[in-house]
Amino acid sequence: MIIAVKRGASGDEVRELSADLEKQGVKVHLSEGDIQTVLGLVGDTTAIDAEALQAHHLVEKVIRVQEPYKRANRLFHPEDTRIDIPLQGGGTRSIGAGRLGIMAGPCSVETRGQITEVAEAVKKAGAGVLRGGAFKPRTSPYSFQGLGCEGLDLLVEAKKATGLPIISELMTINQLEIFDQVDIIQIGARNMQNFNLLKELGRCRKPVLLKRGYACTVTELLMAAEYIMAGGNDRVILCERGIRTFDTYTRNTLDLSSIPFLKRKSHLPVIADPSHGTGLAWMVPAMTKAAIAAGADGVIVEVHNNPEKALCDGEQSITPAVFAELMDTLKKYAAIEGKEL
Ligand code: PEP
Ligand code: MN
Repeated sequence: MIIAVKRGASGDEVRELSADLEKQGVKVHLSEGDIQTVLGLVGDTTAIDAEALQAHHLVEKVIRVQEPYKRANRLFHPEDTRIDIPLQGGGTRSIGAGRLGIMAGPCSVETRGQITEVAEAVKKAGAGVLRGGAFKPRTSPYSFQGLGCEGLDLLVEAKKATGLPIISELMTINQLEIFDQVDIIQIGARNMQNFNLLKELGRCRKPVLLKRGYACTVTELLMAAEYIMAGGNDRVILCERGIRTFDTYTRNTLDLSSIPFLKRKSHLPVIADPSHGTGLAWMVPAMTKAAIAAGADGVIVEVHNNPEKALCDGEQSITPAVFAELMDTLKKYAAIEGKEL
């Protein structure tokens, strides 16, 4: 971090400012020029509040050189992180560090018949994780809100029947207990900056799929991951799920360039959600392939046995047949890239 000191600051004032900064655990190098005095802060500057410093009466400008996140930063953890999910019958399924994680299933669990049929189909096609929402964050309070606890029970039944690990969205802290059987906790776009929830997840030991908020920058996504990791849980998977832009031809704009960027800046696995990213089922195979080509460690895809009758997100849900075809292509992609699927 570099601090340009305001002209007219006395030597004593600058020394006092430097001493205050050193109390925060950094070393301060003073560089006094004829026109400008500059302080160079070295060491771990993550805990230094740049905005507060900017408001200091002696400070002209603050320039951050290092990213404000540490635990999620590749600089301090050069190797890719691999997240292992224990499987029911023993063994593990891994995501990251050369292992692609393909999560598939309906937006929402609707009936036993629906989740069982989809679970069996995606397993047969080669999916690694079964998705299914039980508590749904819907824009309208009059829309289907998910089956709640019953939906979670049906998802767990499908897990037991197929052996697939499961992922479901958690919306509030007090639901954490009933997510006991859920293997990966999904934090949705709307909750990416629910900091109390993120802190609580830092105390739990389950992998967390953290979706990018639709009006959040990639740095904010990494800072949200940092919240979870700072609490002691370093099993975070980042998810690009599209952001809101001026264009409306797709539901969101799937920001594929965030994938190589996040992979460069962080060691955490990064996956894409081409279903919410486009909102259009016919685009999902193309954008899945594009995400993998861009370096994603996997995807989360909505699959429904009868998309036209789906209670949520039918327009963006692909059928089991389309998913099976897509998996065949992904197996070839994985082989070309030397990755495990
Ligand atoms: C979902 O996965 O069904 C969902 C609601 O996702 P997002 O939080 O990305 O909108
Ligand atoms: Mn959905």
